[in-house]
Amino acid sequence: MTIPNTEDATPAAGRVLVLNSGSSSLKYQLLDMRDQSRLASGLVERIGEETSRLVHTPLAGGGGESRERTGRIPDHDAALRAAAEELAADGLGLDSPELAAIGHRVVHGGLRFTEPTVITDEVLTEIERLVPVAPLHNPANITGIRTARALRPDLPQVAVFDTAFHTTMPEYAARYAIDVETADAHRIRRYGFHGTSHAYVSRKTAALLGHAPEDVNVIVLHLGNGASASAVAGGRCVETSMGLTPLEGLVMGTRSGDIDPAVTFHLKRVAGMSADEIDVLLNKKSGLVGLCGDNDMREIRRRIDEGDARAALAFDIYVHRLKKYIGAYSAVLGRVDAVVFTAGVGENSAPVREAAIAGLEELGLVVDADLNAVRSSSPRLISPDYARVAVAVVPTDEELEIAGQTFALVDN
Ligand code: ADP
Repeated sequence: MTIPNTEDATPAAGRVLVLNSGSSSLKYQLLDMRDQSRLASGLVERIGEETSRLVHTPLAGGGGESRERTGRIPDHDAALRAAAEELAADGLGLDSPELAAIGHRVVHGGLRFTEPTVITDEVLTEIERLVPVAPLHNPANITGIRTARALRPDLPQVAVFDTAFHTTMPEYAARYAIDVETADAHRIRRYGFHGTSHAYVSRKTAALLGHAPEDVNVIVLHLGNGASASAVAGGRCVETSMGLTPLEGLVMGTRSGDIDPAVTFHLKRVAGMSADEIDVLLNKKSGLVGLCGDNDMREIRRRIDEGDARAALAFDIYVHRLKKYIGAYSAVLGRVDAVVFTAGVGENSAPVREAAIAGLEELGLVVDADLNAVRSSSPRLISPDYARVAVAVVPTDEELEIAGQTFALVDN
C-alpha cells in the first residue's frame, strides 16, 4: 500500500471519511466534499460479541445493494479494517490519494474544544482527560480515533465535538446554581450536546428563510431517540436543554430529561438503590419507554389510535415538556424568527409537531395542517404565510456537517 504524504495531497483530494464510534458500534460515511455527494455508508454493530454485524451500503452513482457480514468482530480495530475492506471493494479504499481526512464525532469537548480540531497526541490526551465528565461516550470515541490513526498515521484526522456549538452560551446559562468551588473542582456545568446538528439545522433554517444566520433567531428542536432543544441567536447558541450529560432537558426515548435532583437521594435513601442503578433507571428505563414501555413514536401513536391510555399519557408528557421549552426559549431569545423540528421524531411525526405548537398563537406560532402532513426529505415550512414566526422541518445531517467542518480545516 502506498501511503501518500499529506504534504503531497493533490488539490483533487476531496473525500472525507466520517467516523462515529460508539461503545459497541462504528458508523461510517464516506463523502466527497467537492460536490457534497455520499459515496458509501455503513454500520458495524455488536462489536466484541459473537453476533457482530457489518452492513455496508455503496451510495456512489445512484447506489448499490447493501452488503452484510456477520460473525465476531472483536474490537474497533477489526471493525474499521472490515469497513476499509468493504470500501476498497467499491474502489474507495482508505489508501486512495483522494481521501483528504478522517473526521471523528467526539461527544465531549469540555471547555477546551470550541472548534473542530486537528488531532495530535496532545489533543488526544486532552480528550482522554474529559473521560470523567463523559464516561459513556468519550472512551469509545477515543478508541475510534486511535484505530483510525493506526490505520492511516499520515492522514489529517479531525475531532468534531458535540459540545462545541454550545460553548458560546453565556456563563449565566451554562452555570448551575450550586457552590462554585465544588462545581469548578469537578468541571460541573451545562455543556449541551447534539451541537453538530443544532449548528447545521439552525444554519439551514436561516437559508430556508432567505436570511444570513447572523440575522435570525431560531429555536431548534432535535427530537431523535435522544432529544434536545437550543436557542440560537444570530447563529450563536445562547441556551440548550442538555447539561453536564445528555440526561437533562426534554423527555427522550429512554431518558427522563429534567427531574428534581432530590429524586436521586430519595431513591438511594428510600428505595436503597445504588448510584449505578439510578443512572440506569434515569438513562435507560425512563422517558417514553419508562412511561409506556415503548420508545418509538410510531408505535406510541399506533397505541394511542387503539385507545391506549398509558401511551396517550406518555405522549402528553413528552409534548408538554417540549411546549415548556418553546415558551422558555421564546423568552430567552426575545424575538423568534423560526421554530424548527429535526431528527427522527421531529422530521417524521406530524402529530408531535402539531401538538407541540397547538395553543401557542400568542407567541406567533401556528401550524398549517396540510403543510404539516406533507412527507418530504427537504427543508420546508409548515406554518401558514400569515404566521408571525415560521415553523419549519429541516432534516439534520450530522455526517455532512462533520465532513464539512473537517474538510474546511484541512483544505488549504
Ligand atoms: P438517534 O437519536 O438514535 O439518532 P433518530 O434521530 O434516528 O435517533 O430518531 C429515532 C426515533 O425517531 C425513533 O425512535 C422514532 O421514535 C422516531 N421516528 C422515526 N421514524 C418515525 C416516523 N416515521 N414517525 C414517527 N417517529 C419516527
